[in-house]
Amino acid sequence: MDDDRNRNVNIVILGSTGSIGSSTLNVIAENSGKFSLNLLTANSNDERLLDQCKNFCPKYAYMADQAASKRLRQKILKENLTTEVLTEEKDLHEIIASDDTELVVAAMVGVAGLDTVFTSIVNGKRLLLANKESYVVAGEYLNSLADKHNATIFPLDSEHSAIHQCLAGIKNKADVSKILLTGSGGPFLHTNPDLLKNITAKEATSHPIWKMGKKISVDSSTLINKGLELIEARWLFDIEDIEIVIHPEGIIHSMVELNDNSVIAQLSIPDMKIPIAYGLGYPFRIPSGSKRLDLAEQGPLNFFRPDFKKFPCLNLAKEAMECGGNAPAAINAANEEAVAAFLDNRIGYLDIYKIIASVMDKIEISVVKSIQDIYETDNSSREYAIQKIKAL
Ligand code: NAD
Ligand code: MG
Repeated sequence: MDDDRNRNVNIVILGSTGSIGSSTLNVIAENSGKFSLNLLTANSNDERLLDQCKNFCPKYAYMADQAASKRLRQKILKENLTTEVLTEEKDLHEIIASDDTELVVAAMVGVAGLDTVFTSIVNGKRLLLANKESYVVAGEYLNSLADKHNATIFPLDSEHSAIHQCLAGIKNKADVSKILLTGSGGPFLHTNPDLLKNITAKEATSHPIWKMGKKISVDSSTLINKGLELIEARWLFDIEDIEIVIHPEGIIHSMVELNDNSVIAQLSIPDMKIPIAYGLGYPFRIPSGSKRLDLAEQGPLNFFRPDFKKFPCLNLAKEAMECGGNAPAAINAANEEAVAAFLDNRIGYLDIYKIIASVMDKIEISVVKSIQDIYETDNSSREYAIQKIKAL
């Protein structure tokens, strides 16, 4: 067993320059000798990827943006680093699929991550999933592929990591009565609803507890992030009864209620390095490099019910989950377009909801039989959302 604990694991990080990707590398640095890096990928931040190549010596690096990829290649040559820069998308998929890759951390943002998540699953990899959008849009289908190809989908999202930890000691799943999915409530928890229409991108991306990428920060402010997490939890744990609990301090990361009304919770300071370390080390516990929780220092913990009227995006996500089929793909595509337009100052804050609602009204619900079905709904929902954004 100790040999297993000390065994070296060869990993790929997709989206290594982002918030989750960087935290993953911090955990890896805490555990020197335990992990080797086969591949790091990013969109366009070649400077940060270059630094990561210097510090972590991955065998390969890949950038989606071709101009950035060229710059990275030149800098790597100049610095005499051993990392090989892949330029072809097919090579990226080949390295993910290769026997050398054991574990894949999916830390990119948006449904743009779906193709590499798909490759990881059909090649039987152990997938640590932060990129919730890919799984929200295709969870049921990806689960069936994971079963078929012997892949594991393991949550990195803090709430889902908490639920995984709460369920770890429960022998019979039938003993679980519900999941209590917690959320901080975002930066506008106590904001007067009349003031929401003037919210700026800067305000919406200033989360009180978590330091995250821009897209998920806006999602957390509209609470659609909690809605996406509801869908994510539904697919990950196959438990239908899920209640959302607002907990502003972000110390309890979610709970599980059992048939005897006992409730099991997982606690820590809000630091993504903890769920990342749980996923990277599983079934062992490895150092995360985070601070310890001091409850006496922390003070009171508060809990509220979510305000569905003030945050109607939450309702839309709930409806999409209940509809099933391609509805989560439609809501996700509409949200990605609306959030990008809001961050770009093309629409107002409350327009995010309007855009998503109009796409949900428009789409025809259908069963998802293939990954192609997902891409079709994604494309048509995006097109419709873009039209609506232009018309505002
Ligand atoms: P981020 O914006 O900080 O980072 C995104 C990463 O994805 C970057 O490395 C970027 O280069 C890469 N990327 C974007 N488009 C790409 C493309 N086409 N090809 C390759 N790489 C691409 O985002 P983040 O906050 O780290 O979030 C990443 C994912 O994790 C999201 O799905 C988010 O919902 C989820 N998540 C984040 C947190 C958090 O604390 N940040 C917590 C839970 C879940
Ligand atoms: Mg979360």
